[in-house]
Amino acid sequence: MSPKLDEKVEPVYQEVLARNPGETEFHQAVREVLESLGPVLVKHPEFCHQKIIERICEPERQIIFRVPWQDDNGGVQINRGFRVEFNSALGPYKGGLRFHPSVYLGIIKFLGFEQIFKNALTGMPIGGGKGGSDFDPKGKSDDEIMRFCQSFMTELYRHIGEHTDVPAGDIGVGGREIGYMFGQYKRITNRWEAGVLTGKGLNWGGSLVRPEATGYGATFFVDEMLKVRGESFDGKTCTVSGSGNVAIYTIEKIHQLGGKVVACSDSNGYVYHEQGIDLELLQQLKEVERRRIKDYITYHKDAKYVENGNIWDIPCQVAMPSATQNEINGKDAAKLVKNGCFAVGEGANMPTTPEGVKVFLEAGIAYGPGKAANAGGVATSALEMQQNACRDSWTFEYTEQRLQQIMKGIHETCYEIAEEYGTPGNYVNGANIAGFIKVAKAMVALGLV
Ligand code: GLU
Repeated sequence: MSPKLDEKVEPVYQEVLARNPGETEFHQAVREVLESLGPVLVKHPEFCHQKIIERICEPERQIIFRVPWQDDNGGVQINRGFRVEFNSALGPYKGGLRFHPSVYLGIIKFLGFEQIFKNALTGMPIGGGKGGSDFDPKGKSDDEIMRFCQSFMTELYRHIGEHTDVPAGDIGVGGREIGYMFGQYKRITNRWEAGVLTGKGLNWGGSLVRPEATGYGATFFVDEMLKVRGESFDGKTCTVSGSGNVAIYTIEKIHQLGGKVVACSDSNGYVYHEQGIDLELLQQLKEVERRRIKDYITYHKDAKYVENGNIWDIPCQVAMPSATQNEINGKDAAKLVKNGCFAVGEGANMPTTPEGVKVFLEAGIAYGPGKAANAGGVATSALEMQQNACRDSWTFEYTEQRLQQIMKGIHETCYEIAEEYGTPGNYVNGANIAGFIKVAKAMVALGLV
């Protein structure tokens, strides 16, 4: 079990459990942040008096709606849509939309809660929110995806806007889906409002580097952690779970920095390729043809595909979980450490269970939690909003340089705050405390709202 909560914080956690029954992922995300906050309340008693933690744990607004759509056989289908507008102290709500059958309110709330602190860490003026649907895009035709996206936006449009709430992608939502949703928003509102969604296509308001940003950013963050230890990616063996947008660009950046990614995965199994993952092939299979990674081995006879295999069985020096929540448990973490892994950077949101986090922290490895390590995606969304606001578009080099600076800044902030609070090298505390203080100070300044 994770560490005991500070006595000032424990009742808040109990209240969260009581008010949000059954939302286990949300409980987990809240507890993980609250574990870091005891010492903050000693230094900042005003946060207690103002009930900042209680207020932060309660979303400002939660929207749940019906999404009816027609499948290719003319049948009527119904899904549930969500948008949780969690905290707007620092700016308009900002965060992605997830389309996946596992989505329910507890998942969206955990993601929205994480997003508050992640967005604060970027230093950009963005609040925290998240949305999505239990719609399963797997196996759907392009027309079905379009009809679903249009129906989803037909309700969502009234809740969002460039100064209100700015959704983007997440699992199951990429450039194609953002396009269909932007088109529907434009049609309903009669506004070409670029800043209402991010992750847009390059020729209609998108930003260069946004597709690469989460993966590149996570790799930059790990690179910073390695530098502190006098290390680098050069010559390191790495594993990257997942094979979606985050994983693909993590692999690309690791390869650019001289590391070798030997394995990646999807929900059916993993591919091991000792020569290093062939990124061009992976992109062709996943991004262009939307196929499964088991097909990788038909093009590379020396690679191995393990159906239902556990990618964390593979020895590596750097692990970058980039698939989904709770994909590394305590046993996986112990195995990774035992096999020589000394750095973990989370491209996904909350991919390590509390038991796994404990193993990494006790082992003293460089562990970069998602809300710091994967903040590059949303940070570049904020750069997209900046370009939209001044009707400008920046070069790839300039945008990537901005992203790299932001990731460096996040690393530095987390590192310094961890040290200030007496837990040097603990990026979990660093990220939680730094993100919280930024939001809490803004909430105090804005009065009781
Ligand atoms: N879904 C991404 C995240 O988890 C990006 C959100 C955004 O760009 O708004 O941070």
